[in-house]
Amino acid sequence: MHQLTLAEIARGLADKKFSSEELTKVLLARIAQLDPQLNSFISLTEDLALTQAKAADARRANGESGALLGAPIAHKDLFCTQGIRTSCGSKMLDNFKAPYDATVVAKLAAAGAVTLGKTNMDEFAMGSANESSYYGAVKNPWNLEHVPGGSSGGSAAAVAARLLPAATGTDTGGSIRQPAALTNLTGLKPTYGRVSRWGMIAYASSLDQGGPLARTAEDCAILLQGMAGFDPNDSTSIDEPVPDYSASLNGSLQGLRIGVPKEYFSAGLDPRIAELIHNSVKELEKLGAVVKEISLPNMQHAIPAYYVIAPAEASSNLSRFDGVRFGYRCENPVNLIDLYKRSRGEGFGPEVQRRIMVGAYALSAGYYDAYYLKAQKIRRLIKNDFMAAFNEVDIILGPTTPNPAWKLGAKNSDPVAAYLEDVYTITANLAGLPGLSMPAGFVDGLPVGVQLLAPYFQEGRLLNVAHQYQLHTDWHTRTPTGF
Ligand code: GLN
Repeated sequence: MHQLTLAEIARGLADKKFSSEELTKVLLARIAQLDPQLNSFISLTEDLALTQAKAADARRANGESGALLGAPIAHKDLFCTQGIRTSCGSKMLDNFKAPYDATVVAKLAAAGAVTLGKTNMDEFAMGSANESSYYGAVKNPWNLEHVPGGSSGGSAAAVAARLLPAATGTDTGGSIRQPAALTNLTGLKPTYGRVSRWGMIAYASSLDQGGPLARTAEDCAILLQGMAGFDPNDSTSIDEPVPDYSASLNGSLQGLRIGVPKEYFSAGLDPRIAELIHNSVKELEKLGAVVKEISLPNMQHAIPAYYVIAPAEASSNLSRFDGVRFGYRCENPVNLIDLYKRSRGEGFGPEVQRRIMVGAYALSAGYYDAYYLKAQKIRRLIKNDFMAAFNEVDIILGPTTPNPAWKLGAKNSDPVAAYLEDVYTITANLAGLPGLSMPAGFVDGLPVGVQLLAPYFQEGRLLNVAHQYQLHTDWHTRTPTGF
């Protein structure tokens, strides 16, 4: 039963082959048995899951239907869940029980989804390896000595290991697409403003966006359908109708114009990944797509710009964790300054502290113009590059990551080496565009992802291309040994 996709689960529940309660019990037992190897969960919510599963079964018995009614999922542990620990992977929030549900959590619960637990993540979503969590590193089910990617690494590892069919993630600079690539999943970062950020603990507010991680594009369509939509509680939520994503899957790719940026194939890319990307292009050409070389001339400036803007916003967002209102408070402070200093010094891990310091520096008087303002100008140039490219093509295709999953600890002493792994993903966040990563093959037994980018609100086009590709390839069906 654990091999079923969301789409298959929906059919099985509709045909009364099994109940949501039965399925939930099977998956909870599987998590108890296998997750100790992976560390993909921070909290399990067994009681909530069984209550929700029984309620979903009752709703079905009353004639209700729906693709998510009774479907087991998990939430990255930065989505607030009422009365349940919402840690953000940090000691700072280890004792924090959210007083309300994030919009995404509430919407999925209303659609009948069953929450099995909260997944492990890089502390405050800062990272590309899921090694900065206060709760310990997550392991990649394809090779337990390797990282699963980050920061939604717990969601990715759990879904890849078939502990559950799908999970939520968030993507500030690649944290849905990059772990999807490194664990052989399909993951989608929606257009900025498509999915509500209300109740999602903020890292960099102008870049953060929630989205689905699943094994197939078909399942991403189902989960995104439950997550997307206007939310008056989020001032950057966009009031656009949500299309029927599942209905968009079967469009023909005849004449689809795919742009492949020449800058993507520079020295930093593993040549074996380059070859797999070219193979995926050939596969799409067979389905009728037309391929064209394009240029994104400002891409080289994306990492420096992102690693100014994201820490700048983080330094502001994380100032609320001061030991006074919620979260960790140090023992016996001698005065208010001591309380602030020690609560933050003891509650935040080293990567979070590094980013707060870089961000506060970039925003300080005298440096603001030189760093923050400059980075914002580069951000606009990057967006303009994409706008020009989308005048010529319908979709942009390239690698999701320059390398496959690296060994645990391999980049710990050199944070910049880890930042460079984000080179292909962060431009979509800087421009606010939707992006998807899907499985495209293996290198040394480790999965490789191909990334697709589309114009604003064209999530349906991304899912369409990915679904058609998945109908003609079987990379996404491969299962890691031992799971
Ligand atoms: N690796 C990037 C960072 O550390 C992106 C993380 C994310 O998308 N949350 O900032």
